Amino acid sequence: MSIRTDRSRQLLAESKRHLAGGVASTLRAAMKPTPLFAVSGSGPYVRDVDGNEYIDYLLAYGPLVLGHAHPSLAAAVGEALRRGVAFGLQHTGEIELARLINELLPCSERVALSGSGTEAVMLALRLARAYTGRSKIVRFHGHYHGWSDAIFTSFPSPDMKQAATVRAENVTPGTGGQSELGLQDIVLLPWNDSGALERTLREQKDAIAAVISEPIMCNNGCIPPKPGYLEKLRELTRELGIVMILDEVITGFRLGLGGAHGKLGVMPDLVTIGKALGGGAAISGVAGKAEMMALIESGEVAHLGTLNGNTAATSAALATLRELIKDGGSAFVRMERTADRLVEGIRSLLAKHRIPGLVNQAGPVFHMMFIREEKVEDFDAFNKRDAAKYARFAEAMLAEGVLIRPSGLWYVSAVHGEDETRATLAAIDRVLAGLH
Ligand code: PLP
Repeated sequence: MSIRTDRSRQLLAESKRHLAGGVASTLRAAMKPTPLFAVSGSGPYVRDVDGNEYIDYLLAYGPLVLGHAHPSLAAAVGEALRRGVAFGLQHTGEIELARLINELLPCSERVALSGSGTEAVMLALRLARAYTGRSKIVRFHGHYHGWSDAIFTSFPSPDMKQAATVRAENVTPGTGGQSELGLQDIVLLPWNDSGALERTLREQKDAIAAVISEPIMCNNGCIPPKPGYLEKLRELTRELGIVMILDEVITGFRLGLGGAHGKLGVMPDLVTIGKALGGGAAISGVAGKAEMMALIESGEVAHLGTLNGNTAATSAALATLRELIKDGGSAFVRMERTADRLVEGIRSLLAKHRIPGLVNQAGPVFHMMFIREEKVEDFDAFNKRDAAKYARFAEAMLAEGVLIRPSGLWYVSAVHGEDETRATLAAIDRVLAGLH
């Protein structure tokens, strides 16, 4: 079975004459059979220019926690646009949003707003360096923290061209044209290895400003921290005066109202948030300890951005958070229930079709992979998966009306329900039956 893609293909050709590469973000070019052009979305569904409709688990790479075109979000953004989209002055929406984030995230005493996850990470690293007077940053192999020169390295995603060349021991630039000098302060470690962490932090304690980590390795395998690992990271960083940054750009307002750190009960110094925060609008932030964020107030650390805190983005974030808070956070219960059903269903279908595979789940986010290992608890194990087979699976799922990311990461929104779950599992059943 195949889908009609004539119009998307024509538009891609036209786009390439005007827009560099024809897509607005490199990852999107990897979609098979062709990068699709969307026309509209509604709830858990998205429609393309060829008239195909898909149940959407890509969800714009994560942000659409309320699905497409949620009425509250649309109304809030519409109202903000009518009032004035940006002033370059302060407005009360920023205070409301920051106050709400401070109430919801356990580690947050002050918030700084920005536009993308990449910017939020850049700011968090600067705060850590200025706070400690040190320059090195410890990061982990397989984690992704945006594409700035300061940290973009070794992101071995199958949908990136550089993926094949990356080795755990090398801190290599993530893209052509990137300054290698920016990476000389990066110390790259395997994740979930307490011994390596302790050795490195103790040996280089006077040079290390921060350790940055995804709380769950969502970008490559949805691998959870080993019991005690994040606690050990907290203990060591506190003892050695190193700033602990959790990158919650995926997990913030996704795993629960308090983010992953609220759920896991580990208190970082700073967190970066983005994606779900805006429900699809371009907004991100750094949240954390007042004494570190005070460096912004004193002017020691610059925090810039023409459109930071614009009314459309802050209104989108406020509307999203208000929806997520409703009924004691019932949206998270719904998302998790849907994800649980999908994950259980996928596991039984893999067994039914005798296809070696695994699903690692973190609440409403999960990673499906074709792999012979019984468990995937670290990045080396994850790399044994059959990524090419999964890309074929994703393409076949598209033909069944289900949109998933070719790398294996699925997102579930608060508006995916029983009907979508049933239809998705039936599609997986058919696709697995013909998968080679
Ligand atoms: N941090 C993490 C954990 C991410 O997953 C991402 C994006 O996927 C980023 C940072 C960068 O965010 P953005 O794409 O908004 O710049």
